[in-house]
Amino acid sequence: MTAQIINGKAFAERVRSQVAEHVARLKVDHAIVPGLAVVLVGEDPASQVYVRSKGKLTVEVGMHSVEHKLDADTSETDLLAVINKLNADPAIHGILVQLPLPKHLNEDLVIGNIDPVKDVDGFHISNVGLLGTGQKSMVPCTPLGCLMMLRDHFGSLSGRDAVVIGRSNIVGKPMAQLLLGDSCTVTIAHSRTKNLPDVVRRADIVVAAVGRAEMVPGDWIKPGAVVIDVGINRIPAPEKGEGKMKLVGDVDFASCAGIAGAITPVPGGVGPMTIACLLANTLTATCRANNLPEPEGLTV
Ligand code: NDP
Repeated sequence: MTAQIINGKAFAERVRSQVAEHVARLKVDHAIVPGLAVVLVGEDPASQVYVRSKGKLTVEVGMHSVEHKLDADTSETDLLAVINKLNADPAIHGILVQLPLPKHLNEDLVIGNIDPVKDVDGFHISNVGLLGTGQKSMVPCTPLGCLMMLRDHFGSLSGRDAVVIGRSNIVGKPMAQLLLGDSCTVTIAHSRTKNLPDVVRRADIVVAAVGRAEMVPGDWIKPGAVVIDVGINRIPAPEKGEGKMKLVGDVDFASCAGIAGAITPVPGGVGPMTIACLLANTLTATCRANNLPEPEGLTV
């Protein structure tokens, strides 16, 4: 079997154009422009790239984009003051604090100070609780993107066996909650899971969010299963030249693509969907803040 490649780049473009259409209508019908503020503390190069790309795509869909770049030694008090100002700003509907934060800052405290209604990353404990109890919440962007691709592929996910490898708060756990919400039978695997290959072999849906390059080989995959690869790992690529690197996922793409029914590539799979879902969440937050109907298909 050769798997269908789920093209996350093209999917993300469709999501962004849907968002842009809604944004244009909000402007014309209600004179509302969704605003997204991204707060970056320090000079982590990868974070700087993410923030630049988020800002560019925010403007492209017609939203108002604000970036707050703070020094690496910014105090917690000063960072919280920025967040409180954004919480109170009616032109800002979504606030994202780029993680990881420098070590001296308490991430839980910082995220806990974002107004949950503006928490477009869905990391605030209120949103975690709402998602866990099946209520309307802001849903973390990466798992939301994975769910959108799975719904698109299967139609209904009801009754399917899903295995999520990884139990982080930002990917694994919310992914499992979303799959459960769509009536999958969900197993969450982690570093202490026994017989992981056998656990994965039972699954109709495998979501790998581990952070270990090409860890899942094709012979762990049930023939025809759908594989969503969240991992982003940078590894040496001597075939491209000395010192060159490349991005790979948590699954061994070549062997898994030979047995799965469908699979997301890395790059070009889950990654682009994450930013598209951030924009979708900002739109959803804007609609909720203004008591307007939420965009269909862009949230759960
Ligand atoms: P974390 O490091 O927070 O979590 C990794 C999880 O994998 C942990 O639950 C850990 O288990 C589990 N794990 C580690 N080793 C094994 C193993 N040998 N067998 C089974 N489980 C194992 O990572 P994140 O969830 O933040 O990210 C996961 C990956 O997804 C990373 O590559 C990251 O870069 C990528 N990512 C991609 C995004 C995108 O937009 N595409 C967004 C966010 C993340 P335990 O809890 O027991 O330690």
